[in-house]
Amino acid sequence: MTRRTIDAMIDFLSPLGVIPGMGEKRIRAMAESGIETIGDLLYWFPSRYIDRSVVTPLSEAADFIDQIITVSGIIDIVRIEKGSRGRLRANLIDETGSIELLWFQGVQFFSKSIHKGDKLLVTGKVSKYNHCQMVHPMTEAIKSKGAEIRSILPHYPVTIYMKEASIQQKLLITSTKWVLDHLTHYPQVLPSRLEIKLNFHSLQECLAGLHFPRSLENIDRHKERLKYEELYKLALTLCLSRKKFKLPGRQMTPGLLPDTMRKMLPFKLTGEQEKAIDILYKDALAPQRMHRLLQGDVGSGKTLVAFFASLAALNSGLQVAWLAPTDVLARQTFDLVESWLVPLGFSASLLKGGIAPHIKQTILTGIADGSVKFVVGTHALFQPSVKFSSIGMIIIDEQHKFGAQQRLSMQEKDIASDFLLMSATPIPQTLARTLYGDLDIVTIDKSPQGRIPVSTFIVPEYKRGSMEQFILDHMSIGEQAFYVVPRIEQDDSDTDSPVKGIEATLKTLTSGAFSSTAIGSLHGQLDNTQKEEVMQKFVNGSTSLLLATTVVEVGVNIPDATIMVIENAERFGLAQLHQLRGRVGRNSQKSFCFLLTSENVDPETLKKLSEFCKTHDGFKIAEMDLSNRGPGEINGFRQSGWYNLQFADILKDAALFKEIKKEIDCIIGS
Ligand code: ADP
Ligand code: MG
Repeated sequence: MTRRTIDAMIDFLSPLGVIPGMGEKRIRAMAESGIETIGDLLYWFPSRYIDRSVVTPLSEAADFIDQIITVSGIIDIVRIEKGSRGRLRANLIDETGSIELLWFQGVQFFSKSIHKGDKLLVTGKVSKYNHCQMVHPMTEAIKSKGAEIRSILPHYPVTIYMKEASIQQKLLITSTKWVLDHLTHYPQVLPSRLEIKLNFHSLQECLAGLHFPRSLENIDRHKERLKYEELYKLALTLCLSRKKFKLPGRQMTPGLLPDTMRKMLPFKLTGEQEKAIDILYKDALAPQRMHRLLQGDVGSGKTLVAFFASLAALNSGLQVAWLAPTDVLARQTFDLVESWLVPLGFSASLLKGGIAPHIKQTILTGIADGSVKFVVGTHALFQPSVKFSSIGMIIIDEQHKFGAQQRLSMQEKDIASDFLLMSATPIPQTLARTLYGDLDIVTIDKSPQGRIPVSTFIVPEYKRGSMEQFILDHMSIGEQAFYVVPRIEQDDSDTDSPVKGIEATLKTLTSGAFSSTAIGSLHGQLDNTQKEEVMQKFVNGSTSLLLATTVVEVGVNIPDATIMVIENAERFGLAQLHQLRGRVGRNSQKSFCFLLTSENVDPETLKKLSEFCKTHDGFKIAEMDLSNRGPGEINGFRQSGWYNLQFADILKDAALFKEIKKEIDCIIGS
């Protein structure tokens, strides 16, 4: 294929496979890091830049231990050490001295590009191990005199997945460079009228300028544009979905079902719940579509409120779809909802990934012919093959875990269906109005009575032992504990970071204090049936400790669990910690949350955490979280994809956002 044809073929949505050197394994690692397309790669920005305009003589390298410097010289020895601990060693010399360059990952790959006699510009961190070394440095061949050498080098974040697939700085740089060299079609998000008015560079120039700047001067200006564009896209999505909702809906009433349901419950609904239900029934009865966000602190009893709302659809002979973000939560919701539906004379179906094709087909047929009245499901429900006969209400639990696009695709299933979104990351009203400008909001302010706040403690390393004893004591009287480790992702700059993965933690636990405890372990690599099995064992009490990644963050309800241990608590946003803590303290028993912190945690973070220990109001915590988070750290929101903001800060940029919304209203009309 000629270069012209390649260039004409690729666009933002092209898969990474078009890039030379991107094999299957690497593509998978990139996907696990959230990079699936050319566009994703272009939005994977350097976390910092390395200025290579200063070249240090090798004789001075020893003065820069632990710092990144650039040197230049000739390779005089190359040695490949074979075996399980294969290494590539090379010696670089200049007129003043020498330094050893060392690779221990991707040895095959690098050995092809480093040869005796090569003239190289080398950038890396200097370390000292008998003599001066650079481990996995960046190298660039100095070809002929006058050939262009980029003096400012991007430095990209490298996730653990990338690392495992030997994706290093160099590959990220060459891949991004390749894309910028070959990509000719850039999506035009901002109308050119605005581009001119605001005096922005084109998207192409901005992206090139952020990845390979000629000087560091223009960086802020480029970021400014991308920030504007981000907010513009967000405002556009909101505006489009708002327009969709100015449509007539069906009028539905719950009849006698709510009263029957109330009598079945072992407890009384709280006043807050009753108030919310009331509002939702008014929505259901109104001739417009319901488009509402139900928010409330974790444990405030949203599930039940949403279920009550669904009775309006059921009583009117219409279908209900209930979406959950994870298999575990879908299963749990299904079990719960089914136990409520059956006595009311209805049944439910569960649709999620990994179910047998013939069962899936039966459910799909039932959904299409209307015999399935209530379906609980995961992302599987978004598929176009899912066609409803007549759907009255779509409920989306933990809606921030879904993308705006997915939400829209659900809305398109039936243009008259009511929409109820639930959010367990409560956010302050003012912010809610900015973010969810297209939604009506109902808030459950108080949690059911009789809950004792979860006692929360920071546990420094030296107190780990006594914490473990405490947990063992509580387990001996039948209580259960969650043990959460952070999702594994790290920057390559801290290679010996103390973050504990799930497997390492399991080993530590079983070989230490919890050697005779029944432990279940729940993480993303398990398939659905395995996940359910692990969960089931914890629910029925055959395991007492559940080791998990943040999978459990989402909505899981285990009333007998009284202890939540969070490893590397400093790695989590406060809102996320609050979610996790909300998994315990769900009955009237005293519950505990232990925040384990690593030794090198900074005082600022410790202060935040100790503030968190004292605060139990989810709204307040969300506010704390939003106001003191650093740039780039977008706790929860970032992963959610809902508000995938890399440059904008929804709090700080609220005024700009408003302005942009006005611009859009001018274009589309409100
Ligand atoms: P969330 O709002 O976090 O989704 P859930 O709906 O999972 O909370 O409810 C948390 C727990 O509170 C559940 O075990 C539920 O059965 C219980 N619950 C809900 N409403 C009440 C109530 N009015 N009184 C007592 N317990 C309740
Ligand atoms: Mg919930």
